[in-house]
Amino acid sequence: MRRCGDPDDWGGQFTCRTPACANCRGREIGKQWRKAKTRFANVGNDDLAFLSHVIGATPNVDEVGAIFKTFAKDLRNLIDSNRRKRRRWNAVESLLWLETDAIMAGDYIHLAPDKMEQLGELAPMFVHQNGPVWIVTAHGIVSHPGVDLQEVRAEFERRWPGHKRVDLRAFWDNQTKEKNLRGIINYSLKHECRTHLGLYSESWPMSWMTEYYSYLHGWSRGFYRMRSIVGRKTSKKDVMLLADSYGNNKDEYIEPIPFIYTNRHSDIYFN
Ligand SMILES: [Zn+2]
Repeated sequence: MRRCGDPDDWGGQFTCRTPACANCRGREIGKQWRKAKTRFANVGNDDLAFLSHVIGATPNVDEVGAIFKTFAKDLRNLIDSNRRKRRRWNAVESLLWLETDAIMAGDYIHLAPDKMEQLGELAPMFVHQNGPVWIVTAHGIVSHPGVDLQEVRAEFERRWPGHKRVDLRAFWDNQTKEKNLRGIINYSLKHECRTHLGLYSESWPMSWMTEYYSYLHGWSRGFYRMRSIVGRKTSKKDVMLLADSYGNNKDEYIEPIPFIYTNRHSDIYFN
């Protein structure tokens, strides 16, 4: 990681590609923004939403990846089960990134009331724990053409009950889709490593950063593991039905599907 972009090393061409590296995170944000603009090229600003989701909490940093992976599978299952009931869910997509918060167990009592209630449900270990508790979250984009945002939110809240665990809100309508995508991807991949307590926030102690980044640094293909994608579902049958229903039945209307998505079947790109 120290050699990343070092002009003395491979003429500055070497990149370490670990999420623990600020250089590489910056590059990854640009790359993911370009990909997101392509992915959502045919979706309007008003069919896109920003998701912040509190997945779980653990005192063991090396469980963070497994918690996120389980969430990614559960999310795919939720979307798939809705697709079996209602075809308009076929066009729903999610593009999310893992982010980790941490607080000292003893600081639990200083949390804002909402946060205290939310985390108290997820992490009863606060009572006994001395070290940091790692709070696993997902941030990113949900695309929902043809499905009302409230319906998507209700499904998420039913699957993940608990105090304000799911925060799903429409894209800001006072700025362009591209700017919204950029802001959310930047936010999702930032890894600011700060603890927020009510009105105050402070940087994690160096020992927490070392623990967390050492853990992330051990991931090969780290940026892939920090991302969960559920793509839209397409099939030849769907494409034909879409052609028939286009403009006739508002409930069944789904955006025309770009050719590049036709090989994908609600894949989740996660390893
Ligand atoms: Zn790097």
